[in-house]
Amino acid sequence: MDPELTIVIPLYNEVENVDPLHAELSAALDGIGRSYEVIVVDDGSRDGSFECLKAVHAADPRWRIIRFRRNFGQTAGFAAGFSAARGAVVITSDADLQNDPRDIPRLLAKMDEGFDIVSGWRVHRKEPFFSRRLPSLLANRMISGATGVVLHDYGCSLKAYRSEVVKTLRLYGELHRFIPAVASWMGVTVAEVPVNDRARRFGQSKYGITRTFKVLLDLITVRFMLGYSTRPLHIFGGLGLISGGLGLLAGLYLTIVKLVLGQNIGNRPLLLLAALLIILGVQMISMGLVAEMVMRTYHEAQNKPIYVIRETLE
Ligand code: UDP
Ligand code: MG
Repeated sequence: MDPELTIVIPLYNEVENVDPLHAELSAALDGIGRSYEVIVVDDGSRDGSFECLKAVHAADPRWRIIRFRRNFGQTAGFAAGFSAARGAVVITSDADLQNDPRDIPRLLAKMDEGFDIVSGWRVHRKEPFFSRRLPSLLANRMISGATGVVLHDYGCSLKAYRSEVVKTLRLYGELHRFIPAVASWMGVTVAEVPVNDRARRFGQSKYGITRTFKVLLDLITVRFMLGYSTRPLHIFGGLGLISGGLGLLAGLYLTIVKLVLGQNIGNRPLLLLAALLIILGVQMISMGLVAEMVMRTYHEAQNKPIYVIRETLE
């Protein structure tokens, strides 16, 4: 029998947190009264976390452990957990006790209202303002604005998903922070629930300030994939037409100046600009055509549908 809930937890060098995590999660989940499994993905820990997890698994078979050969990153951890998950609802969390398992019933109550994704929102965050909360505030604004999925806290790992949502996701790089936005292409309903945030007690954070820049670049990828991944020529070709069109106009003007007015145009900066714009236009349109071919390969190679059906009546 499949469990009702799957908790997916990527874990990297968190040896002191394993036992308290097991105790806290068990207490919170036993109180809910639904069957569950916990999938911990050991992301190549080298501090003895795996031995600790092995002991937990031996004592509590509801805990399934997936051990990576090396450190592949938190996104890979989530992806492995999602593909192994058997529950109808999948809940993600960090392993460092910063998320509070006692918030899970509130996430589930929101899911029961019919939402496909319920995101935790750390209203009172315990992290430093300038290095953590400010970048995250800006990132959340930008992701919300660019993707149309408005959330206060993309970075909170405590989130709940309907299993069909995470099973169809293909995650790359560090895209786990964008899951609600990435999933929005299939038409999901998203809600937010305030959750508790706690300071880290053991171990240390695995990320520094460079994360902010990676998030910015990832946002460009996500925005493109959401808006244009099935019609890349519309964006590249559009830019190409504008650029090429302006170049042609400028060239035409110079031709008239030369042929009708008989002036010399060889020393005019506009000539350079016209040539540049026309070349850019041709480049953009050919890049769009190449992207169209890449896109078809991408969709067909992984049988990725271009639409998702909610239900059919017949
Ligand atoms: N983590 C992971 N692989 C990594 C980095 C982090 O599985 O390469 C896990 C880590 O063990 C923790 C969660 O991802 O459970 C969040 O990491 P961290 O607490 O370092 O991030 P922060 O809370 O500082 O944003
Ligand atoms: Mg943390």
